[in-house]
Amino acid sequence: MVERQLRRRGISDERVLDAMGRVPREAYVPEAVRAKAYDDSALPLSHEQTISQPWVVAAICQAMALSGDETVLEVGTGSGYSAAVLSLLSRAVVSVERIPELVEQARAALAANGVASVEVICGDGSVGHPPGAPYDAIAVHATGPGAPPTLLAQLADGGRLVMPVATGASDLLTVFRREGDEVARRAIGPCRFVPLIGEEGFRPG
Ligand code: SAH
Repeated sequence: MVERQLRRRGISDERVLDAMGRVPREAYVPEAVRAKAYDDSALPLSHEQTISQPWVVAAICQAMALSGDETVLEVGTGSGYSAAVLSLLSRAVVSVERIPELVEQARAALAANGVASVEVICGDGSVGHPPGAPYDAIAVHATGPGAPPTLLAQLADGGRLVMPVATGASDLLTVFRREGDEVARRAIGPCRFVPLIGEEGFRPG
């Protein structure tokens, strides 16, 4: 997976490649699709949600430019897989998920795999998690109409927010970098995610 799906497609951050090689994806996917754990694709979770394709997780982690001592906020815990990858790349991870059953499953999977530096919180991550702010980097695993202002405000100076943003045709994975009061924006490429449902995302329904 690391060689064929990631390195060959432009993932060059060795720490990200190493983390992706160390986290057992099969420990986070539902039993019914376990045989497909290393496929080059997204896989179904319950509640119509998906565990992202490995390349997408790696591209998000690479764009976060982590060196190991950061405090990270993740929005959209899902299975807990990407949180486990982030735990190897940073000092502490706060991960917010809105669906209570997924929160329980992710907590159990992370604990079973000995991941201690991730705190999973149930709630609307489109408004972040103020008690842990500021964050050095934020990853959002669901597509929003734009970067939520509240998330940008929870970024440390120089911090990066990586998230898919809805455009006419497809979603565009984008990095927002905060420098003082300015926010610079750079597109990574087209992608497809489930919608970010919440106060600063899309409305449910
Ligand atoms: N990163 C996950 C995949 C997440 S899929 C993994 O590795 O498995 C996107 C997740 O975002 C879904 O679980 C969905 O319920 C969640 N989500 C959508 N809107 C949200 C919001 N406002 N706050 C928190 N989680 C949200």
